[in-house]
Amino acid sequence: KSLDLSGQLALVTGASSGLGAHFAKVLAQAGATVVAAARRVDRLESLVADIEAGGGKAMAVAMDVNDGNSVVAAFEQVQATLGTVTVVVNNAGVADPGRFVDSTEDKWDFTVDTNLKAVWRVSREASERMIKAGVGGSIINISSILGLQPSSNNTLYATAKAGVIQLTKNSAQELWRHSIRVNALCPGYFETEINTDFFQSEKGAQYLNKIPPRRLGQMDELTMPLLMLASSAGSFISGVALPVDGGHL
Ligand code: NDP
Repeated sequence: KSLDLSGQLALVTGASSGLGAHFAKVLAQAGATVVAAARRVDRLESLVADIEAGGGKAMAVAMDVNDGNSVVAAFEQVQATLGTVTVVVNNAGVADPGRFVDSTEDKWDFTVDTNLKAVWRVSREASERMIKAGVGGSIINISSILGLQPSSNNTLYATAKAGVIQLTKNSAQELWRHSIRVNALCPGYFETEINTDFFQSEKGAQYLNKIPPRRLGQMDELTMPLLMLASSAGSFISGVALPVDGGHL
């Protein structure tokens, strides 16, 4: 068993920034050919250039995870160019914090569709293709520590992320027989564009007291957990929700 991903084709959604760009880079360093997907294709192209400059293999593909046609078209393009995707990192996500009483239908649709329904959409499409090709695979859903415990001002996001954990556990039950493992990674707080404003606020600074090491996570602290779930190192691990959160209180 090893963390080597040579011969694997790994799709990362939301690879145009933050954690997704990091995941794309480390999957390529581990030997996978990476498909970097998101809406901002210009950003994906510079990521692909970085990966290729480091000796890795990657392609950029436009994908709006909220649009079923866009998802299918992206998978078709990848299938025709590189073959069947064998590793999926469902990382695309949005945060729209706010008080529960101020939440609206539009905010629910935006937050829950992007963070939960889209994970179902991409995973379903990917697993159908893996089953047809008989290749097996690994699906890693990026949930959040907020999907495991309550917090204030994040009800819609946290509800979606908790849903991702149940989606993970249930699809894992069904897909094991096709040699497809499904796991969730539950990051604590890692500073990216999704939360920069929050951590620059006074409230954000106070929040650090809830993290025993009193600091945000470094992206590289997600690298080995991700690679373990993606590779044969995690061959007997499925249906797990793994927190990487500094022992968040
Ligand atoms: P960023 O805001 O930096 O990145 C979010 C990514 O999601 C972007 O690349 C964006 O790409 C993509 N995205 C958003 N909507 C869509 C869409 N409709 N279709 C395709 N792609 C989309 O956030 P992070 O890197 O911080 O977050 C990545 C994931 O990690 C999210 O799921 C988040 O919930 C989760 N997470 C993050 C934590 C943190 O501390 N940062 C903690 C816990 C979980 P584009 O706009 O180009 O389409």
